Order: sequence, then structure tokens, then C-alpha cells
Amino acid sequence: MKAAVLENYRIFSWQEVPRPTVGECDVLIQVTHAGICGSDMHIYNGDFYPRTRIPMIPGHEFTGIVADIGPKVGTVSRGEKVVVDPIIWCGKCAPCQIGRYPACTKLKLIGVDVNGGFAEYVSVKERMLYKLPENITSRHAALIEVYSIGFHAIKRAGLQENDTVAIWGTGRIGHSLLQAARTRTNNTIFCIDIIESRLQMAKMAYPDIITINATKKDPVACIQEETNGRGVDVAFEAVGHARVIPERPNPVRGCIQCIRGTGMVCVLGLGEIPAPILLKELIWKEASIVASRVNQGEFSEVIQHLAAGNLKPGTFISREMSGPETQIAFDLLEKEPEKYLKILIKIF
Ligand SMILES: [Zn+2]
Ligand SMILES: [Zn+2]
Repeated sequence: MKAAVLENYRIFSWQEVPRPTVGECDVLIQVTHAGICGSDMHIYNGDFYPRTRIPMIPGHEFTGIVADIGPKVGTVSRGEKVVVDPIIWCGKCAPCQIGRYPACTKLKLIGVDVNGGFAEYVSVKERMLYKLPENITSRHAALIEVYSIGFHAIKRAGLQENDTVAIWGTGRIGHSLLQAARTRTNNTIFCIDIIESRLQMAKMAYPDIITINATKKDPVACIQEETNGRGVDVAFEAVGHARVIPERPNPVRGCIQCIRGTGMVCVLGLGEIPAPILLKELIWKEASIVASRVNQGEFSEVIQHLAAGNLKPGTFISREMSGPETQIAFDLLEKEPEKYLKILIKIF
């Protein structure tokens, strides 16, 4: 089979590799579409070393068709359309024991810790599969994993029907949060970023949101003004690598400052630099901060919403490219991040 092998950091080659074997409980997936994620960019740049080592095949957001099944597989059959939840948890550590798999101390992902979906075939465990209804296209199914991040986060934040929301960062995760939050609340949603084109993309998809460009306006002051000094019920931090803007709080502190008393901050951005916060700003509000990592079974919920037309997958996909063009796709995402949200690799 052919696969996009990361041969050296920053160098992909579309080459012949052995097709994975199928164990007793395994299912061989013929990959149709795979999405490129922010963490793939990190793997590509070598930031995840030594967790990831070259040569490897990334890709943890993928969908495809069942090509072969092991003798003990009973829930799917050949030719069925499926999507893969890439998480592998240990089941033994303290968080796993209480059913909190995203916090597994040995958490692994297909496409990060083992070879993934930028390949014609991937072999996965049967329990990682979700069947797809006919009306979800392969392009849209490749987005289910990134949507699951947003749906898990709104669950962690306990987002309620009439809540007001602030989303700091409108990259891929910010968009996932926006679309997930809109399925839950009809109230005001603020989107904050420093890249104007990303705010435009969000506004195009959801004209009723309020966008704030943090280089031009003070997001906290804006939110306080729009909510008559009350603040929002829930704020999400999805910036990660924040650029310091003079006279503005970092995004985590901004989240704390823009929520109402007893409000909720949910953090998802995987920045590498400590972000100082002033604890009394949190204490005075008797507010909460929760963290959200990966997903925990939200695939079913996303599939239902996609099938019902409650999400806007079209606004997510900036471009589709072929397997041999994987290198070009990564170059584009790196050089023109303001232009591209999600690039999909069409494998079959
Ligand atoms: Zn991802
Ligand atoms: Zn575990």
C-alpha cells in the first residue's frame, strides 16, 4: 500500500509500505479521507519528540470503508462506512479506574503514538469504530474527531441551553467549539482572535455571533459592555500558543476576567509557555476552571448532529488534496495559517 511517511522532520514522502496485518479483534480500514490537525503540525516539526519518532505515518482524524475483519469481529462487516476514534487508553490507571479515559496516564493515539491515517489502509481495534449513516459524506466524516473535541469540552464546561459564551481562539478547535456550542445555546457567543480572516470565517458560518479582534479592541471590555457588566456564563480558552498583545491579558486570564460571578472557564489550548493568572480574580467570582482533553464517546453525538444537519462542516474545510500532495498541504498550513482552517487528504 501507499502512505505519506514522515521520513525526516518536515519531510513527507508518499511511498510503498507494508499493509498492516489484521489481528483477531482488528478491522482493516481503507481510508477515504483524513484531516490535518494542529498536533500533526507539531509532529511534523518534531515538537513531540521523543513521544513521536521518525519514520512514522501521522493522521488521527480519518474515515473509511471496512476492507477486512479479524475472525472475532462481530459488529461491522466489509464495505461498511466507518469513522475511527483514535484513542487508546490503558484501562488500569487511576483515572481509567473511575472511567475518566481522556485523563489516562498512558493515553495513546493512532496517528501519534502508532501509525495513522495518512495511508491507504489502517488496522484498528473493533471497539474504536463508529458506523456512519449513508447521508454523511466521507469529507464530512473526516471532521468527526475534531468535532468530538468541541462536544467533549461543552460537556466538561456544563454548558446550558441559555448560556452566553466566549471562545478565545478561532482556529480549528475554536471552530469546533463554536459549532458544538451553537447546538446547545441560542444565546450570545463571542469569538476572539487576532487573525481577522479566521473571525470572518466564523462570522460567515454564524452571522449572529459577535467577533472581537484582540489587536484592535479589548475583548474583556467589549464583553462587559455587551453583557451590561454581567460577563458570560462560560469562557473557553482554545488559543494555545498565545501571542502577547501589549495591555491585554493572556487568553486564560482574559477568560477569567470575562466570565460572570460563579462562571466557568474551560481550557483546551496546549501552549508551551506558562500563562500567569491572578488568582483573586477567580476567587472573588468563586468561579471554576476545568480542563478538557480529547473526547470520551462524543463521536455518537457528533454523528447524530451531522446526520441531522445541525453542524456546518463545509465552513471547516478549506481545501482537499491528494495523498502525494501531503507535503504541499503541510507547507500551506504553515505558511498561510490565516487562509486555511482544515485541509483534508483524499486517500481513496
Ligand atoms: Zn487532532
Ligand atoms: Zn489509563
